[in-house]
Amino acid sequence: MLRCEIIAVGTELLMGQTINTNARDIARELLSLGVGVYYQTVVGDNRERLEEVVRRAMDRVDLIILSGGLGPTNDDLTRETVAQLLGIPLEKNVEWEKRLFEFFSRFKRPFAENNLRQAMVPEGALMLPNDRGTAPGIILERGKHTFVLLPGPPREMLPMLRDQVIPLLKKKLETSGKLSVLQSRVLHVIGLGESTLVEMIQDMLERQDNPTIAPLAKGTEVHLRLTAHGHFPGEAESLLTRKAEEIKAILGDYVYGEDADTLELAVGRQLIAAEKSLALAESCSGGLLTHRLTNIPGSSEYLLSGLVTYSNKAKIGLLGIDPAIIADKGAVSAEVAAGMAAGVRRACGADLGLGITGIAGPGGGTPQKPVGLTYISLEAENFYLTRQYRFWGCREEIKDRASQAALYLLRLYLLGKLKPGQEE
Ligand code: ATP
Ligand code: MG
Repeated sequence: MLRCEIIAVGTELLMGQTINTNARDIARELLSLGVGVYYQTVVGDNRERLEEVVRRAMDRVDLIILSGGLGPTNDDLTRETVAQLLGIPLEKNVEWEKRLFEFFSRFKRPFAENNLRQAMVPEGALMLPNDRGTAPGIILERGKHTFVLLPGPPREMLPMLRDQVIPLLKKKLETSGKLSVLQSRVLHVIGLGESTLVEMIQDMLERQDNPTIAPLAKGTEVHLRLTAHGHFPGEAESLLTRKAEEIKAILGDYVYGEDADTLELAVGRQLIAAEKSLALAESCSGGLLTHRLTNIPGSSEYLLSGLVTYSNKAKIGLLGIDPAIIADKGAVSAEVAAGMAAGVRRACGADLGLGITGIAGPGGGTPQKPVGLTYISLEAENFYLTRQYRFWGCREEIKDRASQAALYLLRLYLLGKLKPGQEE
């Protein structure tokens, strides 16, 4: 496999003023060629340090892709530094010089002398035209190394990469019989902690053959990224499918989806399959659950309504909750959650009613009812369940966890895995 290092040049990246989206975009594009990105480096606009990282990259990879520092100003050093390090002189490219003059006169911009630096290219290098800016890209072959120099601005870098660099690299790999493909698939797991999950698939994780498997904790979910290396796309695809089936055989319903799937999408599919309708009454989650479900095209097939009954008045007036229960147990209580689920189900004539009430914080907590305490209740024909949760985090995280827990509860119910009752 061809090994690659991506070097992003720019002090603004080091300072956190600009996000290094170029490294991400370059890495993604290289997947399709089966090139292994072994390292990503960020370095400032500084000659010695840039030289140091390029030297190190030459020791450890074959393909070195640099972005940034091709501009006309004195802090744009990439072209000069790489050429000097390799002992290649820069020569003027007359054609590009002409283009620069034309460019500046076309846009009626004054021509500063230092713009001509952009027409200087290392001897024997291939120039990549840049339709959106003044700095050309550069490809340079030297011994076993290939250098690709790309401009920093993403709107210039990305088209140059996609339309010119990737096809050239592809041809080169094809000629040398090294063209392959790296393909990833992500399995989404809910209801298992990362360490339990790792234990369940320990053997596979230790083998790490092809595809490799990497667990990633994502909020209350765990994602398993499988990456396959194949000689052609179909091969990588079938390796992924086989491994995904193996994993699903072990994890069963804990895997709810793949790649772009979301938990709300998975629950939506379950509701459609079960031909059940749903009505929601949300308090502390502020409509987030409704929002998530209504993000899915076609959710009107199962979602009848989502009420945000934030105040006691709304809970009493819209859901018919007995004021005495609120006075006695408090708005954040199992009883009120159950009343919300029942009330909204009745009001909408839904198969399933779900209620969420909790304390999102940061204020409003007490020793008996701390911030994060939340009750979620589900009611259906001959079924009701209220579950107590203690979420942590800031307000938004608590809202997010509450909506996630509610979706998971719906998922379990629709899988027939819930026992009715009240859980503490
Ligand atoms: P220019 O001709 O505009 O000077 P350049 O090739 O010299 O182009 P830089 O000066 O390094 O590129 O960067 C220009 C702008 O491009 C930066 O201000 C930044 O906004 C953006 N940029 C540079 N590098 C990156 C990166 N790695 N990821 C995302 N954006 C970047
Ligand atoms: Mg610049």
